[in-house]
Amino acid sequence: MKNSINRALNWLWEQHFPMLCLLCEQVLASTSPDHLCQYCRLALPFSVRACSRCAIPLLPGADPTDEIRLCQEPPLICGQCLTKPLADRAIVPLIHRGSAAHLIHRLKFNQGEPEGRALAHILLTHIRLECPNRLPELLIPVPMAYWPAVKRGFNQSRLLAQYLGRELDLPVAPTLLKRLPGPAQRLLSRTERSRMASGNFRWRSELKKNALRGKHVVVVDDVMTTGATVRQIIKLLRLHGAQRVDVWCATRTPSLYQ
Ligand SMILES: [Zn+2]
Ligand SMILES: [Zn+2]
Repeated sequence: MKNSINRALNWLWEQHFPMLCLLCEQVLASTSPDHLCQYCRLALPFSVRACSRCAIPLLPGADPTDEIRLCQEPPLICGQCLTKPLADRAIVPLIHRGSAAHLIHRLKFNQGEPEGRALAHILLTHIRLECPNRLPELLIPVPMAYWPAVKRGFNQSRLLAQYLGRELDLPVAPTLLKRLPGPAQRLLSRTERSRMASGNFRWRSELKKNALRGKHVVVVDDVMTTGATVRQIIKLLRLHGAQRVDVWCATRTPSLYQ
């Protein structure tokens, strides 16, 4: 009885407020968790060949065995990560341009919760595909400094982490780290960003120093540009005992666009 009432209410809701594609505003035929029509979903700039440690998109090579290599272990690693790897594993499904950059912009500056859910769902699909048996023990969203968080009203990385935590049944620790105030990252050059990121985060003093001893944790963010922010956080998490640190992020800026 309760189910039929719910179905009837859903039907009525969809008649009056049909779900629209977030990108082309076409009415969606059925409810879709990413709020995208099949055409816009196919046109998203997916990152098909990237470094497994920092997710930097790699240029397609002329090697005919490329497709096979993508599915093989060990995964692809870029030149920088051969000597200075960013994370143990980086999962970033989209390149930060075109429609993906538009979704991020709406999430960040228009408090776009549907856009956040869409990006989190795309990320979730890739996590399930790429590491079905190696889920972490804790998700840590990149924190915002106090006043920017108050001004914006929400933290987009936290929104992504909470969606992923719910779907994968994993705990989220949004207050493990503290971010010190500083200029907005998007206003800085690549070099300034690398310099700023060092020393920008603090471990909350009320927590035990070795709270993460032996744990497999994941840093969750919306956009990765230089990777400097994430690198600083990873360093801090390892200092406090984390054994394995992965990165899950919605989009990655290719070095060409930095
Ligand atoms: Zn569409
Ligand atoms: Zn790399």
